[in-house]
Amino acid sequence: MLSHLSKYLLIPTATIAMLLGLQNVARGAYLTLWDNGSSENRVDIFFLGDGYTAADVDTTYVSHIDAMLQHLFNEGENPYPRYKNFFNVHSVDVISNESGADIPPEGIFRDTALDASYYFDGEIDRLLYINEVKANQVLVDNLPNISLAEIRLVTVNDTRYGGGGGFYAVYAGGNSDATEVALHELGHSFNGLADEYGGSSEPYMGTEPFEINVTQSPTGDKWSHWLGYEQPGIGIIGAYEGARYYDTGLYRPSENSKMRSLGRPFDAVSREKIILDIYNLVNPLDSWLDNTTPLFNPDKLWVDLIDPNVIDINWFVNGTLVSEAEDEWFRLTDYGFGSGIYEVTARAFDSTDWVRINRDVLEQSVSWTVQVEVPDEVAVPEPRTLLGLVGASILTLMGYPRQSSKSRKL
Ligand SMILES: [Zn+2]
Repeated sequence: MLSHLSKYLLIPTATIAMLLGLQNVARGAYLTLWDNGSSENRVDIFFLGDGYTAADVDTTYVSHIDAMLQHLFNEGENPYPRYKNFFNVHSVDVISNESGADIPPEGIFRDTALDASYYFDGEIDRLLYINEVKANQVLVDNLPNISLAEIRLVTVNDTRYGGGGGFYAVYAGGNSDATEVALHELGHSFNGLADEYGGSSEPYMGTEPFEINVTQSPTGDKWSHWLGYEQPGIGIIGAYEGARYYDTGLYRPSENSKMRSLGRPFDAVSREKIILDIYNLVNPLDSWLDNTTPLFNPDKLWVDLIDPNVIDINWFVNGTLVSEAEDEWFRLTDYGFGSGIYEVTARAFDSTDWVRINRDVLEQSVSWTVQVEVPDEVAVPEPRTLLGLVGASILTLMGYPRQSSKSRKL
């Protein structure tokens, strides 16, 4: 997969680094693995790696990334597969001197580029995280703008179970649970979700948590729009006690979901948040016929949907829905509109029932002012004449001249 070099690939700095004898640095620039469209209207995922040596980076690192992409988008980890074309994927090769991560209590310290370490907080074995300052520097060194990295996944070349979610979603790429851990950590780092497991037997005494999937309310008012919903694979959405490291005093939306246990689906509340966060970065329309000036007899109006399998379209003329006009292009005369001035609107929207709030971010409309002039007198040919005509000539005789697009001030 890495052999597919994108047009966005920058000039590698690897050669310079090698000449200078620099090590533990990114090899240079980034590779675009999936180019589904302009980064302006896609969620851009960036992979970084830690604990991958120069020998690992074209082999193990590539296979760890491939495994994650396969799991994320092709194995039913909803909602991601449905929105696959809303993402671009890139990777930066970060080269370490040694493989693996630190395990301080065991006296194991590896010389890696991003200082990945288990027991990152000094207490929890599985808490694997990296030095954010060093990771940020890798982004600065390799991306034209670090804000391009809207999702930041860091795979660590170690087989020991672990991960952590902060500004980066970090996971042990060599562990058998790697891809599930990565998805869970994405829930933290991309969507600001809380863990839904308990821990402390002391009751929670703090303020209402900011995360949308945990609450102090025993009735789950925070996700009232989902209460009672029976989600396949999850069960009834309600308010279940025990969340965010407390066994009592905090509630979660489902009995068991991916924010509580690996191998479970995201529950409806989390799934909705993920979709809303995607639409926070992406609009339903990639582009459309220029609408900044009124159009005179345009051949057709058009929009370019980000993914026709996800986005539906309706066309309206003067505010009225034109039934069965559901293509990415629209021609007034095809629907019997003669000479006149019209306001034509294309409404693009995601009809998913996985979102019940803020649905306005799932749709986008564009409008054009169009003047149509159809010739008053159209010669009606004798039937025998018509038989000898084909294609565009017939359209012309029927009063629908095919004119090239042009616009003028009305
Ligand atoms: Zn977690």
